[in-house]
This record gives sequence, structure tokens and C-alpha cells, in this order.
Amino acid sequence: MEATVEAPFDLIIGGREIPGTRGEHQELLDPATNRPLARVAVGSREDARHAMEAADRAFRESPWAQDDGARRSKTLMRLAARLEAEAEAFARLETRNVGKPLREARVDVGYVTRTLEYFGGLADKIEGETIPVPGPRVDLTIVEPLGVTVHIAPWNYPLLLAMRSVAPALAAGNAVVLKPASLTPLTAVALGRLAHDVGIPDGILNIVPGGGREVGEALIEDSRCRSVSFTGSGEVGARIAELAARRHLPVTLELGGKGPAIVFPDADLDRAAKGIGYGIFQNAGQMCWAASRLIVHESVRGPLLERVRAIADGLKLGPGTQDGVEMGPLVSREQLDRVLGYVREAIDEGAHAVAGGARAAEPELADGNFLRPTVLADVPPSARALREEIFGPVLSTMPFGDTDDAVRLANDTTYGLLSTLWTRDLATAHSVARRLESGMVVVNEAPITFPQLPFAGIKGSGLGFEQGRRAVESFVRRKNLLLHLGGGRKKSA
Ligand code: NAD
Repeated sequence: MEATVEAPFDLIIGGREIPGTRGEHQELLDPATNRPLARVAVGSREDARHAMEAADRAFRESPWAQDDGARRSKTLMRLAARLEAEAEAFARLETRNVGKPLREARVDVGYVTRTLEYFGGLADKIEGETIPVPGPRVDLTIVEPLGVTVHIAPWNYPLLLAMRSVAPALAAGNAVVLKPASLTPLTAVALGRLAHDVGIPDGILNIVPGGGREVGEALIEDSRCRSVSFTGSGEVGARIAELAARRHLPVTLELGGKGPAIVFPDADLDRAAKGIGYGIFQNAGQMCWAASRLIVHESVRGPLLERVRAIADGLKLGPGTQDGVEMGPLVSREQLDRVLGYVREAIDEGAHAVAGGARAAEPELADGNFLRPTVLADVPPSARALREEIFGPVLSTMPFGDTDDAVRLANDTTYGLLSTLWTRDLATAHSVARRLESGMVVVNEAPITFPQLPFAGIKGSGLGFEQGRRAVESFVRRKNLLLHLGGGRKKSA
């Protein structure tokens, strides 16, 4: 068993790590054992105000916003290199805090490094334009950072989802205040500690762990806040949009999902089963883009379900830090109870568990938040398990007869984040992808993305997008400058 992380994690404001005005620390539990893991400072409204003040001062007084981007580019590259050098320590911390297997946390940290490199590479390529106008005039667009940008992150991919919006905001020259999720703030604070070392001016990257209602709302309500990037649940997303609207702030919302995985009869079933397993059991299913509804052609339902069941039953559960572990615990006891509630309710309503459906039986896992990977069949269409985001390792399965049927079932949700399709036929892939109401479609692979690709949900899954080169546009304003060059019109000779 690994020891407690001894030193407390405090707030990072103005380049200093401080315990916050309350001086209170919250104890975080290791999700694999529910024993104490670390202590983290609990930010207050006053701390939020201090962070906004520090960010605003740094934005106005440090060279960060003013230079041509080349220095920011180099600094973000240095941060990426430093993170890469310390990747193992970051991955271990993420694993202990969230519960996910170490190999998944290593992928997450690698992704953050790549994100910093990608947006670091863009920092000196944010350009305006000149637009032709009549007469002795010149028109220029001047691209300026917004000022202080606020970022609110969820607990499932703590560092990755925080940096997905923080990196482009920094690249564009803004000063950032990040509020990580209360349950999983450790890697964000650890990254904040590196900022000073790599040359990010004090106050340009501030980290304020604390409660959403208290710290999160105070950040948005602060008169210095210029934009809000939020990743989290739809319910909180609506509240954030409301607060932002009162102040006419631009807002990006990355919300939940109920992704379909549609398997056509011509699919490579072995490959599909593996991808479907990965798409729902990775990070114990605590993924916005989880492919949580398997919509399978009736002719291949039996053989596919058998393959998926074998994968689910064969997954090795355990603490994420242990070698060979394929699925860790859920993040908290509360989350375990929530997910079990969905499973029990679906079974009461007539569904049956093809795999899992209960907590892990191994005595050595009894103290942790472990749920067996679960596959449900015959889930009644009205069941909450089929309609709501479960955010756990629970796959619901449904058969379809023809393509129209498949598309109808896939779109029958309030969400629209990512859909996966499994078929060898390019025409089917193309035509079905176009009919799906989702911001992203992946064909013949589990949900996957890269920092250079846009990440966006539609319907109840979000507003705006993150990632990709256009993401920088969310963190700049384009000021139009029209210059009259003086004098009248010259007569031609
Ligand atoms: P959550 O909405 O409960 O919390 C997200 C963040 O918002 C946390 O930092 C929380 O402290 C803060 N918060 C809570 N109330 C607030 C308020 N009133 N004002 C300001 N901030 C507030 O979400 P969660 O439980 O941390 O994460 C799970 C959810 O996130 C799921 O719905 C999941 O689908 C979604 N998610 C979406 C994406 C995406 O990219 N679309 C990625 C990951 C997770």
C-alpha cells in the first residue's frame, strides 16, 4: 500500500503557494482504499477575489500579454518539457487521486504535454489581417488577449481537461485562474508549482481549489473575469451559462454524453468488441464521451455480446498503481452508490446483467469503490440507465433491424457528444455519420481525440468547442482599426 502524500496542497495565487484565507484543509481519500491520501486547501470567495486580483495585475504589468508570442511559445514548450521530465510523478499522483490505472494516467499526462506543445507552437502565429477599404484608408484587425480567463474543471481527467482550455488561453496571452474539481485538485496544483520555474510570470497561472458554488461562482461574478471555460455536468453548465449571461461573458461548455456505439453486421467483431470494452470501461466509465449505449445489428448481437461479456468478466480490477490492473475504482463512495443505483433500478425494471451488476467480490477490494464492469441487456427504453449519463462502467445494449432504426436509436437522447460506428463499408460510415446528432464521430475505433482536433458536443453536450487551432479564437478579441491616411483624393495626371 502506498503512503499518504505528506505535504498539503495549497492554493497558488500570484506565484505563491498559500493556505488560503480560511486556513482550512480538506482530506482527500484514496478511492482504492478510502484511506486518507492528501490534504488540500479549501479556497473561499475571498481567495477567489485575490486570485482574480493577482491575475489582473499580472496581465497588465507583466510582459506576458505584451510580447509577440515567441516568448510565450518558448515558455509553454519549457512547461511541456518539464512535465515530460516529471511525467511519472504526475501520472502516479493522478492515479492515486482519481483511481485510474497508471497506464491510463501516463497517457493523460502525455496528452497534456502534447497539448502544451501544440498551443505553444501556435502562440506566435495568432495573426490579424488587413481588409481592403475604399479611399486613402487602411484597415487592420488587431488581435488582443481577453484579460483574465476563468477555467472550471471536472474530476475525471483532472489535469488533461483543465489544460485543454488553459493552454490556448495562455498561448493567446491571457492570465488564467483555474478551479480544479474539489475531489481531484492535486495534479493541477502540482503543475502550478512548475509555472514559476519555467518562466511563467507570477500571477499568470493561478490555481484555486475549492467548492464550485463558492469559489467557482465568485470567479465568474468577479468584474475582472473576461471568459469562462467550463467542463462538467449539464446541470452546473446551465448555472454557469446563466451567471456568464448576466455579465455578457463568452462561455464554452463541455458537458456530458450518452454516446452510442453502432455495430453493423459487416463489422470486424473482435476489433469492435475490444473498442467497445475500452470505450466504456476505461477510467471505470467515468468519461463524458463513454460509448455507453451499444446499438448492435440483430444478426450479430449474440456473438458480439459474448465477446464483450468475456472482456468485461476478464478485466483485472485493483488499485491503479498495481501492475497489470485494467480497471480501477470509481472516484468516490458516493459515485459508486450513484452508479449502483442506476444498475439496480434497471434490473428491477426488467433488464438483466450479462456481466457484472454488483460491487467487486474480492475481499482485498472491499474497502475501495470497485464495481464489476457491467453489461446490461433488455433495458426498457424508459429506464434511466438508458437515458441518463451514468458515468460508470455500465454498458446498455439494444438491437436494431435496419439503418434507419439504428440512427433513430442513436439520436434518441438529449446528448450529442461522440458517436462510434463499426463497419467495413465506407459508404455506410459516411452516410450514417452525417445523420448522427453528435459533435464527433469515430469510425472503427474507441472514442479518441488529439489536441489538434476540435472537441465539441451539440444538444445537451455543450456549447462551443475546445482543442484545434481555432480554439485560440475563444481567448482573443479582434479589434478593428480603420485609419484614414489624410489628404484628399489625388487627381490623376
Ligand atoms: P460538476 O458539474 O459537478 O463539476 C464540474 C466543476 O464545476 C467542478 O470543479 C465543480 O466544483 C464546479 N462547480 C460545481 N458547481 C458550480 C457552480 N455553481 N459554479 C461554478 N462551478 C461549479 O461535474 P463533475 O462531477 O466534476 O464531472 C462530471 C461531469 O463532467 C459529467 O457530466 C461529464 O460528462 C462531464 N464532462 C464533460 C467533458 C466534455 O469534454 N464534454 C469531459 C469530462 C467530463
